[in-house]
Amino acid sequence: MSTTQAPHIALFPVAEMGHLMPVLRLATMLAKRNCIVTVITAHPTVSNAESDQISLFFRHNPEINHLILQLNPSSQQEDSTLADPFFLQFDLINQSIHLLRPLLSSSSPPFSAMFVDFFLATSLMAYFPVLTSNRTEFNNASTIKIPGLPPMAMSSLPQALLDPGNLFTSMTIMNSQALSKADGILTNTFEYVQASTLGTLNKARVTASLPPILPVGPLEPYHIPQDRDNRYRSWLENQPSQSVVYISFGSRTAISQDQVQELERGLEKAGRRFCWNLKTSIVDKDDQEDVKDILSNLFLERTKNKGMIIRGWTDQQEILDHPAIGGFVSHCGWNSVMEAAWQGVPMLAWPQNGDQRLNAKVVEDAGLGLWERNWDWGVGGVVKGDEIERKIVELMTDEKLRERAKKVREEARKAVGSGGSSNRVIKDVINSLILPF
Ligand code: UDP
Ligand code: UDP
Repeated sequence: MSTTQAPHIALFPVAEMGHLMPVLRLATMLAKRNCIVTVITAHPTVSNAESDQISLFFRHNPEINHLILQLNPSSQQEDSTLADPFFLQFDLINQSIHLLRPLLSSSSPPFSAMFVDFFLATSLMAYFPVLTSNRTEFNNASTIKIPGLPPMAMSSLPQALLDPGNLFTSMTIMNSQALSKADGILTNTFEYVQASTLGTLNKARVTASLPPILPVGPLEPYHIPQDRDNRYRSWLENQPSQSVVYISFGSRTAISQDQVQELERGLEKAGRRFCWNLKTSIVDKDDQEDVKDILSNLFLERTKNKGMIIRGWTDQQEILDHPAIGGFVSHCGWNSVMEAAWQGVPMLAWPQNGDQRLNAKVVEDAGLGLWERNWDWGVGGVVKGDEIERKIVELMTDEKLRERAKKVREEARKAVGSGGSSNRVIKDVINSLILPF
């Protein structure tokens, strides 16, 4: 066997744009570095955004192979009207996993490695079975302690994990047990923003069986030109440099009507230019209402020269890259954090769900953004307009924060640049797949 043959790597994202995007980015990074790359996607997808992105991506990247894992929806056990549609999709993929082996074995050349997609911050996931070995103790604790890491507030944990019966919890336990079988864990992060966590995970090892954590981020964005909705692009072109605050809660967070009203109030009072990616449903197919049915006429009238409302999928990376953007109000989905880091856009962290409070802490510690930790999150409550106004003004006027965010950008680019920490890791991973064992 030749030792110089390019490795063939299979990538398998689970559901949600927040998982698909980083996997597709990694696929282009590997292909650029001469790997043969095959991406497996589950079909049908939950959202239109996923199916649109998948077809666009493979049309523009013909060198990357595509395999489809055909799901059989009739095998779903859960009451699908109650659970989160993306969690149900994770479950469905699990039930169809026996179809993966024939799919993989039909591919040529044979695979050198498979990169599968896990959810949840690695440290928490690896230690979760230990934490929950005594459920009563776990549920009554106010902080959790993972060896070598600062204590985490229980209130910052993905709240679904407090419920042992939740599908998310059982999947986390199952996945965390599988972690030890991996040769390494690639993560979309870089030394500068998470040096101490990475050090702890890789030196002390949170659990003895945890494989090395391999930071390869920020995953480099790819850009696919799209003709759709040019409105916001031309609008942004006409705004002064760093004058616009971009507001988005990611691809799958529905903002309540009450919170929307307070956001209107806060934005109007803050008096800043804004670009608001407005989502009121978890799955984009359900997001059918017109802007006029969600926002008040008065707000739309008063802010018509200052604001741009976006409905539906937009290229967030492209927006953050625009010189007019001066701040980012974000739920702190990890991809959004890495994208803000890549562009050096100061963030106002407003976690909504899942691991986002843990991510907000990283944002704050790295100097990339502000975090008002007293704000309610998830379905818990509503943050008042006055509060929102105050923090938006702070975000848009804090020059020191702007400088620190710029520094994060420099470090992000250094990490993936020639000789950078993430670049070295990715090279080593590829080399380890080329050399014979
Ligand atoms: N995103 C986008 N356009 C949208 C909404 C989201 O490009 O209209 C992208 C965003 O840039 C990020 C991903 O979708 O890459 C969302 O992932 P993140 O981890 O930020 O949040 P999630 O959607 O998983 O909560
Ligand atoms: N991640 C990380 N450090 C963090 C939080 C997240 O490296 O502090 C990584 C995580 O390991 C995963 C990715 O970011 O690979 C996305 O996180 P997650 O899957 O939890 O996001 P979600 O499921 O909410 O979209």
